[in-house]
Amino acid sequence: MIQAVLILIKPDGLKKSLTGNILSRLAETKLEIVAAKMVRVSEALAKEHYRHLKDKPFFGELIDYLLGKLHNRKKVMALVYWGEEAIKKCRDLAGATNPEEAEATSIRGSYGRITTSGLYENVIHVSSDINDAEREIKLWFNPEEIIVELYPAKEIIAKEVKKQIWA
Ligand code: UDP
Ligand code: MG
Repeated sequence: MIQAVLILIKPDGLKKSLTGNILSRLAETKLEIVAAKMVRVSEALAKEHYRHLKDKPFFGELIDYLLGKLHNRKKVMALVYWGEEAIKKCRDLAGATNPEEAEATSIRGSYGRITTSGLYENVIHVSSDINDAEREIKLWFNPEEIIVELYPAKEIIAKEVKKQIWA
């Protein structure tokens, strides 16, 4: 099945200069990159992204992690990969959520760690199923930022939208 999947290179991945490395590993999947950008994550975006974990004791620290507060890197790299069995291929490469349990050759097994407080700093996010992927991709990207039509979109005439243009 052709799928799309959201990948985030989390602030620890950026701080450890792992971007090239992670993208090289993901290239092994032969999937197509259909969207990519650097994002300054807002608290609202981080909380919405991880809303399924809001009752967990580590939620506050997890949000600080995605916001870059733990690494002094207030950004993440967001990408959408697209192709046959994209979710399974990317999750297999990423490895288990707990970096200590992840296969040593996986991305998380190679570069992740558990902090002294127990948070899993695992360098990469990968959507876990097609419903999560759709929710997350729509949360992180606008339709015009994705070079294929993944989900139905519509055109509107937006009036009085404040945005930056080149001076
Ligand atoms: N996480 C954690 N401790 C846990 C479970 C999750 O620190 O016991 C963090 C970890 O960074 C993980 C993120 O919360 O990547 C989201 O958790 P999820 O269960 O969605 O795992 P994932 O889909 O990222 O493998
Ligand atoms: Mg998840």
